Amino acid sequence: MNKREFIKYSSYLIGGTFLEGQVAAATPVFIEKRGRKKSKSKLELRFTPFTLQLKHAFTLSTSSRTTTPVMLTEIEYDGITGYGEASMPPYLGESHESVTKFLSLLNLSQFTDPFLLVDILQYVDGLMPGNYAAKASVDIALHDLIGKLVGEPFYRLFGLNPAMAPLTSFTIGLDTPEIIRQKVAEAEPYKVLKVKLGRDNDREMVEVIRSLTGKPLCVDANQGWKDRSYALDMAGWLKEKGVIFLEQPMPKEMRDDIAWLTQQSPLPVVGDEAIQNVADLIDNRDVYSGINIKLMKCGGLNAAMKMINVARAFGMKVMIGCMTETSCAVTAAAQLSPLVDWCDLDGNLLISNDPFEGLKIIDGKVSIPEKPGIGVTKK
Ligand SMILES: [Mg+2]
Repeated sequence: MNKREFIKYSSYLIGGTFLEGQVAAATPVFIEKRGRKKSKSKLELRFTPFTLQLKHAFTLSTSSRTTTPVMLTEIEYDGITGYGEASMPPYLGESHESVTKFLSLLNLSQFTDPFLLVDILQYVDGLMPGNYAAKASVDIALHDLIGKLVGEPFYRLFGLNPAMAPLTSFTIGLDTPEIIRQKVAEAEPYKVLKVKLGRDNDREMVEVIRSLTGKPLCVDANQGWKDRSYALDMAGWLKEKGVIFLEQPMPKEMRDDIAWLTQQSPLPVVGDEAIQNVADLIDNRDVYSGINIKLMKCGGLNAAMKMINVARAFGMKVMIGCMTETSCAVTAAAQLSPLVDWCDLDGNLLISNDPFEGLKIIDGKVSIPEKPGIGVTKK
């Protein structure tokens, strides 16, 4: 029996519910695994520090930088390797040192079944509080591994339709008009732009962009505004300029002012810095009308899924974003994109030394690779 006949025959054996083409494309590993004896393998974790070089200095209302430290992780089981990543922008408080310390303390070799995802992630989460990027690097690698063992992209294991992914935005940081022109040109494949505001030239920034393009804009002030009346004036003006939401307009500590703004604002107000995990989300449910979920803030895909469910129960809008990251973490986040209202998954495009290939932008939308796991390959 040749390989093609084997696959066709196997599909009948497991119920005959797969079309032959689908089986050939995606499920041979699945078929083999179903009949497989339990492996005696253990999970083996490896990690390597890496520094991302940014194409442009990344300037926010509070800081500017040209590199981002990341940790690249691998979890190997039975000869198959899952890839993960921790990205550590300074404001999260994690570093090469802290992630090395956290991952060095983990003993994943105690686990002989990667499908016990809940048990493994509970162990990882319980090891130390915080360290969410370090935890995300394990969570992502495990999801990648499981998808590869099953032979399916992870969005299929979540039951998600990739065609439901919304348009994704390209971020333009605070910069000179000349650089902004250059970035608007770079953003050509995107149908939505996200602009960073929060300094004294906000209106000028938006006017420069509007002189170049009429694409819908998202605005992220990164806590840069300090006065709620100013923020409300800006919200009204920005709505007229074709802005679709306002992210973290004021410092997260100004809860009463932000709640007031959310009630008055003609634009949805999305919490980012204020909402890291499910506990923050519950605490801020009356302060914001939406949340920006990032794998590095919440600890990975498993935690992100919980946040999406809780936010929806509160009737909140959901956005999935990222840090400056390689295609590894960005493509992992993209697996959840069919569940959200807004996508901001451009972190891989902001760097010049991406070691992975993964998601593509097609027609302004994230195109999730059909490869098993999170869908990335090493270059
Ligand atoms: Mg933000």
